[in-house]
Amino acid sequence: MTLAHPAYGILRPVTPVASVLLEDNPSAMTLDGTNTWVLRSPGARESVVVDPGSADLPHLERVAAVAGPVSTILITHQHPDHVGGAPWFAERMSAPVRAFDESLCVDAPPLTDGETVAAAGLDLTVRHTPGHTEDSVCFEIGHDEGRAVLTGDTVLGRGTTVVFDLGDYLSSLRLLAAQPLGTTVLPGHGPELPDLAVTAAEYLAHREERLDQVRAALRRLGPDASPRAVVEVVYADVDKSLWGPAEWSVRAQLDYLRANP
Ligand SMILES: [Zn+2]
Repeated sequence: MTLAHPAYGILRPVTPVASVLLEDNPSAMTLDGTNTWVLRSPGARESVVVDPGSADLPHLERVAAVAGPVSTILITHQHPDHVGGAPWFAERMSAPVRAFDESLCVDAPPLTDGETVAAAGLDLTVRHTPGHTEDSVCFEIGHDEGRAVLTGDTVLGRGTTVVFDLGDYLSSLRLLAAQPLGTTVLPGHGPELPDLAVTAAEYLAHREERLDQVRAALRRLGPDASPRAVVEVVYADVDKSLWGPAEWSVRAQLDYLRANP
């Protein structure tokens, strides 16, 4: 695996059918920036664009310039760094937008779990993988020239993601851990990874470890400890700029532990 060096504004081929254009919006939450994916089977005239990115016109114009005719725009989840630019991009490319959340769709029905979207010479299978958000989906690319899954923010190229519902998230990770070995991860942020099953198993182990730490913190602080108090114990070794997002994860962990004692 080569660790991708941030290269803004350049379309970088990752698999024979998937290329990435990195948006110049780095932050603690977006890592190097948002990955906008352009998918196209060799020889296909049209492309599929997954997650156009923020309402960032220079980025969207660059995507428009390299994507060629776009048959469909797909959205991994509702966060604005993925979908904010979709309405503008849809109008620019005269293409429909499809997402699990109907309110994000433009001129097309919402995605459903298990559905296969046939576009740009590819068959993309939709997997509903809630946890990061309720509407998060992954897209499986089943293609002769390399199997890959677009994971949005459910699995990132580096670090771990913020979780809204931990019970849902653990179920989603188990689903992804069952992918065939050697399935490339094409994430919403950070570099691609060589094996989704391996990464999903690492995420599961990490979540179990954090749950154990939260259980230990609750023994010290008492069962009614606030999420913030738990963050200060469990995330003591993590940069304070990440304590805000960590509080959401801890909130999800406390909800999970209270529902699954
Ligand atoms: Zn997100």
